[in-house]
Amino acid sequence: MIKVTDLHKSFGELAVLKGIDFQADTGEVIVIIGPSGMGKSTFLRCINYIERPEKGIIEIDNVKVDAEKCTEKEIKQLRLKTSMVFQNYNIFKNKTVIENVMLPMISVQKIEKEIAKEKALQYLDQVGLLDKINEYPSRLSGGQQQRVGIARAMAVNPQLILLDEPTSSLDPELVLGILDILRNLANEHKRTMIIVTHEMSFAKEIADRIIFMDDGRIIEEGTPEEIFSNPQNERTKRFLERFQ
Ligand code: ADP
Ligand code: MG
Repeated sequence: MIKVTDLHKSFGELAVLKGIDFQADTGEVIVIIGPSGMGKSTFLRCINYIERPEKGIIEIDNVKVDAEKCTEKEIKQLRLKTSMVFQNYNIFKNKTVIENVMLPMISVQKIEKEIAKEKALQYLDQVGLLDKINEYPSRLSGGQQQRVGIARAMAVNPQLILLDEPTSSLDPELVLGILDILRNLANEHKRTMIIVTHEMSFAKEIADRIIFMDDGRIIEEGTPEEIFSNPQNERTKRFLERFQ
């Protein structure tokens, strides 16, 4: 469903992604773990070209984008295949909850307003926010704002959802609610997801496959069982020791 080949990204002199090869099947939930500053966010951002890689090929379904010779049109097609949930929610402060969820459906997908509204209500119901649809973000808790972000990401029905530390700005008591929602998305809705997280127990439970990234490369990957019970690489072992 998604295939990434030899992806490279630098910021000036700093090489951040040093050749990433990666594949996932439809409905697969991939969790990326690894130390801070090692390129996890950059990897997600390159998948949908929020950041532009210098080299590498990204294929999602029938769309193929080669960093060294791609057109704006191809990038746009690639972006339509994915949506992203950010660490800091990234929702519009001057729009209500329902407007936030409707916006990408109307502006990107050109869906009719009434239909967009119906869908928005459906997704807001799934994240338990039907009673807040006319509120502005400033009147919501962090966890509620993140649920708006998740509803918005789902509403465009993307083939691939990218989630960058979706619970890391939340107070501990709000984390479980978000993890429940993501678990439900994975199990019932069979969405393909790539999730960066430091919640190891959640990673263990939700992932079909865990990827350990360090220093701009995928160091090791495997089932949760393989990675958590029997890591092969020294760096993976050292990283996981911190969480025991
Ligand atoms: P992670 O998500 O694993 O913590 P990031 O992908 O955010 O790591 O960052 C990897 C490295 O790239 C870090 O050294 C970070 O400072 C650097 N970096 C990320 N984004 C930018 C940017 N827009 N400009 C310059 N450096 C960046
Ligand atoms: Mg990050």
